[in-house]
Amino acid sequence: MEAMVLEKITDLSVERNPLKKATAPDPVPGKGAVLIKVSTCGVCHTELDEIEGRTPPPRFPVILGHQVVGTVIDRGQGARLFQAGDRVGVGWIYSSCGTCAFCRKGFDNLCPEFRATGRDADGGYATLMTVPEKFAYTIPEVFSDSEAAPLLCAGAIGYRSLRLTEIQNGELLGLTGFGASAHLVLKMARYQYPDTDIFVFARSEKEQEFARELGAVWAGPTAAMAPQRLHAIIDTTPVWKPVVEAMKNLESGGRLVINAIRKESIDKKYLLKLEYPSHLWMEKEIKSVANVARTDISEFLDLAARIPIKPEVQEFALEDANRALLELKERKIRGAKVLKMA
Ligand SMILES: [Zn+2]
Ligand SMILES: [Zn+2]
Repeated sequence: MEAMVLEKITDLSVERNPLKKATAPDPVPGKGAVLIKVSTCGVCHTELDEIEGRTPPPRFPVILGHQVVGTVIDRGQGARLFQAGDRVGVGWIYSSCGTCAFCRKGFDNLCPEFRATGRDADGGYATLMTVPEKFAYTIPEVFSDSEAAPLLCAGAIGYRSLRLTEIQNGELLGLTGFGASAHLVLKMARYQYPDTDIFVFARSEKEQEFARELGAVWAGPTAAMAPQRLHAIIDTTPVWKPVVEAMKNLESGGRLVINAIRKESIDKKYLLKLEYPSHLWMEKEIKSVANVARTDISEFLDLAARIPIKPEVQEFALEDANRALLELKERKIRGAKVLKMA
């Protein structure tokens, strides 16, 4: 198979081509696993965290990519959920133990043996991959392969973060950062909570304008005060300034949900601006989102098909994965970036 592989942790500002094109032996599906011919794979900010070592893969070389859409072409021993020819998706959760207290309660995202696709196991920056069949999902017909890919991470984790806000219909919701995940959250929030007004904080005027196009009642810069205090805010940025500024915008008892696997330390000093009375007091909460549970992915795919949510995508060839990653790093974002295998 063809793949773009990561051989070591590196600094993207120095090494502009961290992934190398390689031909690797075709993977063989183990017990209970399926072999997938990959059609598309979304490009995620988490790949930057892996390449730069903020969430380092345990072994090298490794194939990144955890928003995979493709066709089942073979099954390992005992695998029977899918037939050859079925279209499936794979998300960030590659496997969990299935027996611990977390797994039994549906918190498989918190399982101590949680393994991530494209980090702890080879992912979808390749023409083939294998995955335990329980961690593959039927893709609703309404989506093309490219449209479905970003739903598997940005969409599913966005769904989880929206759930964790515990917002009620009619309460005010904020989004700080307006990349792939946030634009999907805006669409699902408008569907699930039709009386909820949405406020967007984003660095660039372009992103603010895009937010208003998608139905935000207000959009402004990261450090602005929204016209009203908000019941919940979801932060999808990789930095700290938006956290501090969001806390200031929360209503009493409000909750900030941080949807980021790691934060960069570049502006960590900004945290010193945190003032207890205005940012934290009055029972304001901060909660993070970790990984994604299987139910988040399957429930979100159904929801996305009903709405329907069709992400705006920008396609790249597999060989252009480095360029897609750099554009993501440099925040040249309008919609989601997807690798399309030839
Ligand atoms: Zn992701
Ligand atoms: Zn477990």
